[in-house]
Amino acid sequence: MLFPSIVYGPIRSRRLGVSLGVNLMPTTAKLCSFDCVYCECGWNQPVSHPELPTREQVREALASSLIAQPDNPIDVITFSGNGEPTMHPDFLGIIQDTCALRDQYCPNAKVSVLSNSTQLGRQDVVEALRLCDNRILKLDSAIDSTMRLIDQPVNHQLTVAQVMEWLRIFDGDFTLQTCFLRGEYHGQVIDNTTPHELQAWYQAVDSLHPKQVMIYVIDRATPLQTIEKIPAEQMQAIAEPLRDKGIDVIVSV
Ligand code: SF4
Repeated sequence: MLFPSIVYGPIRSRRLGVSLGVNLMPTTAKLCSFDCVYCECGWNQPVSHPELPTREQVREALASSLIAQPDNPIDVITFSGNGEPTMHPDFLGIIQDTCALRDQYCPNAKVSVLSNSTQLGRQDVVEALRLCDNRILKLDSAIDSTMRLIDQPVNHQLTVAQVMEWLRIFDGDFTLQTCFLRGEYHGQVIDNTTPHELQAWYQAVDSLHPKQVMIYVIDRATPLQTIEKIPAEQMQAIAEPLRDKGIDVIVSV
């Protein structure tokens, strides 16, 4: 499923409420630094000259959409879409524009970014994310081999340790998002719900102390056909030890 426009919705999001979505990636193909086995946009496609919207096009599309729905209050302007939004070279300027438009047209709405955390080595991306109300940053496993199986990073050198070092920049002022799943990829078992996986993941959460943890299951068709949805009771059981420590956990099933 691809989003056919720069701005889409508003839609009622499982995790965020009434959300006006912004897609900074091409409208005809997914472009991402990960190629997650559960990605609702499908697998990455080779694109020789990806056409990204310009900063001005994003500003105009967002302004028109906000002007068009004064009686339809939105909870959140969410950067997500057909890939990784922080890969856009003008991400900082776009976030600055978005915050200004939000202040002008819907001051109660939050600005949120769903990101896979791979661009946090860029200072401009960190600066942009600091301007947002919610930084929702992915860590699908605290074990390298599982992270590579689930997320299929384009940069094969990426490690969990590197991502965690980047996440520490926010000193806990972010939401950690993790998709839990089971499946099989080319004969290899994928399961980030085993006791070994969860022990490492709980340690990562402890060490990062995010202000919120968001865990979720697959909701739509996935490119890898073998993926199983984790039952709701098991998701609540995964959340429980964190809640016992007073951590705010959102479970989307
Ligand atoms: S990070 Fe998001 S957009 Fe990128 S492949 Fe994974 S699920 Fe898809």
